[in-house]
Amino acid sequence: MNIFKEPGEMHAWARKQTLAGKTIALVPTMGFFHEGHIALMRLAASRYDLVVVSLFVNPTQFGPNEDLDRYPRDFERDMVLLKGEKVAAVFAPTPEEMYPPGFQTEVQVRTVTTHLCGRSRPHHFAGVTTVVTKLFNIVQPDGAVFGEKDFQQLAVIRRLVSDLNIPVKIIGHPIVREADGLAMSSRNTNLDPANRAAALSLSGALRMAREMAGRGQTSVAELQEALENYILSFSATAIDYVSFVDCDSLEPVTRVDERTVLALAVHVDGKVRLIDNGYVMPRTGE
Ligand code: AMP
Repeated sequence: MNIFKEPGEMHAWARKQTLAGKTIALVPTMGFFHEGHIALMRLAASRYDLVVVSLFVNPTQFGPNEDLDRYPRDFERDMVLLKGEKVAAVFAPTPEEMYPPGFQTEVQVRTVTTHLCGRSRPHHFAGVTTVVTKLFNIVQPDGAVFGEKDFQQLAVIRRLVSDLNIPVKIIGHPIVREADGLAMSSRNTNLDPANRAAALSLSGALRMAREMAGRGQTSVAELQEALENYILSFSATAIDYVSFVDCDSLEPVTRVDERTVLALAVHVDGKVRLIDNGYVMPRTGE
């Protein structure tokens, strides 16, 4: 497996592969791999000749009081987890290489970024779309795989490639969960046992919404109140948002139907912010 730290070297290698007729899939990550990341890499490997995984904790998508310093990092551990996976190259640049002195360009998707996480993390998506554009230009992949765990991010990236005619096919991967329902996240490593228990409030709320909707409750106001009470009944939880939105526009809705996604963001113990989402009325198998 090739490891590249420098954008020019990454680009040269990828270009050579493309000219040799190989297709490339990029899986952008912030590292500290879990089974969710590995599932994305396997999906990428099933559809493209070569998989490139980028590993970069992108400082520009973190706000001033967020967890950039506490975000888990362990490059050696990650490389061990990649052993046996069909990953042809890892791109792990430093912030200085990605944002050298004089850097001043930003790529911003306007409307779909204003809801949900965009409200509480106003600069987050501009950081994401700028770094993803850079990664796409450096690797020039044919496809890229993103997790539905970051549902809004996926919608924003789809908008980005469509609006800017970026020739990269965007593929979504369903949320990978622990056996008890908790959506896998690198941030889960920062949960102590009590907070780990409280983190189950998110998947529990999703289950509750599905049960209530299944019994005919389609009023978002009613669902929202019940879910908020449920989440706050767990110790040390604080709600960022409990939102019912249209799956494409991400605009809030007042009644749930087959297009409605419940999106959740909850702080646990003031330290770890967790997100989760899912269709409220999933088709069989979802
Ligand atoms: P991250 O390293 O957390 O930035 O995530 C890198 C990619 O993995 C993103 O596209 C995420 O949406 C995706 N991802 C993270 N956790 C999960 C999960 N539990 N299930 C599916 N995809 C995930």
